[in-house]
Amino acid sequence: MRLSIKNLSKTYANGVKALDNVSLELPTGLFGLLGPNGSGKSTLMRTIATLQEPDAGSIHLGDIDVVKQKHEVRKTLGYLPQEFGVYPKSNALELLHHLAVLKGITNTKERKEIVDALLHRVNLYDFRKHKVNSFSGGMKQRFGIAQALLGNPKLIIVDEPTAGLDPGERNRFYNLLAEIGENVIVILSTHIVQDVSQLCSNMAIINKGSLLYAGKPGDATEELNGMVWEKLVDKSELAHLERKHSIISSRLVSGRPLVHILSTENPGNGFMRVDAGLEDVFFTKIMGLEATIPVLESELV
Ligand code: ADP
Repeated sequence: MRLSIKNLSKTYANGVKALDNVSLELPTGLFGLLGPNGSGKSTLMRTIATLQEPDAGSIHLGDIDVVKQKHEVRKTLGYLPQEFGVYPKSNALELLHHLAVLKGITNTKERKEIVDALLHRVNLYDFRKHKVNSFSGGMKQRFGIAQALLGNPKLIIVDEPTAGLDPGERNRFYNLLAEIGENVIVILSTHIVQDVSQLCSNMAIINKGSLLYAGKPGDATEELNGMVWEKLVDKSELAHLERKHSIISSRLVSGRPLVHILSTENPGNGFMRVDAGLEDVFFTKIMGLEATIPVLESELV
């Protein structure tokens, strides 16, 4: 099963072009859709989830035409939206039963088995009598995954799932997603680079509605190898460096800027070459940075 997106475009009534001719192929496994806030991720997720229509382009899940056969897609889709609203009075068990009925699981015995198994799977069985509203952020997200898994979906969409989770909760959530991703297509939309680098076998980067990269995280970092240079500098040096070099990022470490530069040659001045990380790829693509390519003496014939 593959999800195939071809030439997808969407412009909102206010003139914002949220998707600009996006084409992507998603195989089984975890697929990371990485982009800054406002880059068009939710628009793409909602379009795949049949909640809104594109202006142009097509989406196919196997043989199903996602744009035209909404009902067919919904039968095999699990969706965890950015804001997962819950009914304030329900406990986890009641709410999951309610959602299971909505998913068409009407046989009581079968539904009990499915709901109990899902609560075990996301490690919330012991909390099944607790109100979902009282759950921590991580527990709410795991509940969200349980409801997304109702009906054995082939495609699961999770929109910005780790925003607001503490590191422990984030790790538990990663493990759960990794386990699920073995058999189905899981699309994980996020602005957090670490989500993708730790979890996803395939990825895409989008910005301002345009696709900037599609492929494996390892291939993306490979492209930059040998061109990323690092140095802990003084704040006063920053302005000068910015004029002279393509700065990928500047992140404070113990109060001092740790600067990454994109350069095909040694920038000197104490900069050390480091392995490119996915964050370097992300910033390089988002800012459209280019490394200067010097002509080597040996290449001058
Ligand atoms: P992301 O999920 O990456 O934050 P979105 O898909 O939510 O991005 O938004 C992409 C762009 O489209 C943003 O500029 C946003 O303000 C705009 N946008 C999103 N939804 C709507 C809408 N319903 N009407 C008008 N503009 C919208």
